Amino acid sequence: MSRHNLHHLPGILPFAHDLLRRALQSGDCALDATAGNGHDTLLLAQCVGAHGHIYAFDVQPRALAATHTRLQQAGLQDRATLIADSHAHLSQHVTVGLKAAVFNLGYLPGSDKTVVTQPASTVSALAQALDLLLPSGVLVVVIYHGHSGGEAEQQAVENWCSALNPQDAVAVRYQLVNQSGPPPYMLAVEKR
Ligand code: SAM
Repeated sequence: MSRHNLHHLPGILPFAHDLLRRALQSGDCALDATAGNGHDTLLLAQCVGAHGHIYAFDVQPRALAATHTRLQQAGLQDRATLIADSHAHLSQHVTVGLKAAVFNLGYLPGSDKTVVTQPASTVSALAQALDLLLPSGVLVVVIYHGHSGGEAEQQAVENWCSALNPQDAVAVRYQLVNQSGPPPYMLAVEKR
């Protein structure tokens, strides 16, 4: 049987980006909690226009350098503040209301996989990000759980998400179900 490209069900990251695009307007502020190679920071910077601003965190200098280069190539470096600190310290650096936040968990693609996001700091940062979100703001978490430690982090994020009061926020999941192994998936939260 031949395989066909899908036309109606986007992959996890394209779907996550669609949600972020829908949540953001010109002039908004947004968070990339895990800048990595800067793909998500760039998308956010494109969405918020010249009057908006992005706060992007990473603990690895090479990740922030890659993010800076990506923004610079697009001429958008002035739209983002790159923060060399753990997202666990989010509220020390960011005090403005956010319309969107993205967490792309796991390790830096192309790196040695020794620096990965961790359950306690991730959940702490998620809670801080939700506090900073404005009404109708969207928080997107892309979860990779195939690597060492990934399952514990997945469980911590699932526990945090499922305990959210539905009066305060709605949480949804977008996940491939008919694939072997632990494929990445997305949780998204909209603040009421
Ligand atoms: N969003 C990125 C992109 O578009 O290329 C991919 C992110 S990558 C999957 C995960 C990143 O999280 C890595 O670059 C890693 O250094 C970073 N990271 C790990 N622990 C962190 C922490 N406590 N605070 C902030 N970033 C962290």
